Amino acid sequence: MTNETKIEDLKTDRDHPRSVSPFKAGLRCSCPSCGVSPLFKGLLDVRKRCGGCGFDLSQADPGDGAQVFVILILGALCAIVGSFLHAALGVPLWAVMVVLFAMIIGGSVWMLRIFKATLVALQFRHDASEGKLAGDDNDET
Ligand SMILES: [Zn+2]
Repeated sequence: MTNETKIEDLKTDRDHPRSVSPFKAGLRCSCPSCGVSPLFKGLLDVRKRCGGCGFDLSQADPGDGAQVFVILILGALCAIVGSFLHAALGVPLWAVMVVLFAMIIGGSVWMLRIFKATLVALQFRHDASEGKLAGDDNDET
């Protein structure tokens, strides 16, 4: 096995077209290759392979990036909305808590799907993967 073969093994499936915008695929939560089939199996589990075009999604690894974006953005929005409801409109604190609880639960699931799908699409668009040295493959055999 040559070094070129090893490097090719680390790359994702290059035979599939990448004409779909990663941001469009992320907003639709769809496959980064065809942009049509759903990316998730269930709520937040990424499929191993696209059901429509057969694109290999087993290397998808968004890590904790999506959670960080959702915590920061949703936390800021909740602070603004909570402050506005209580200070400007005089809504009682218990009602503000109920509104923010629903906003946090619904918003975090909705935003996590979009951000995770976008990060997966960006990963495949740029062939991002874990860094490996040339000699690392010898350990796996
Ligand atoms: Zn697909």
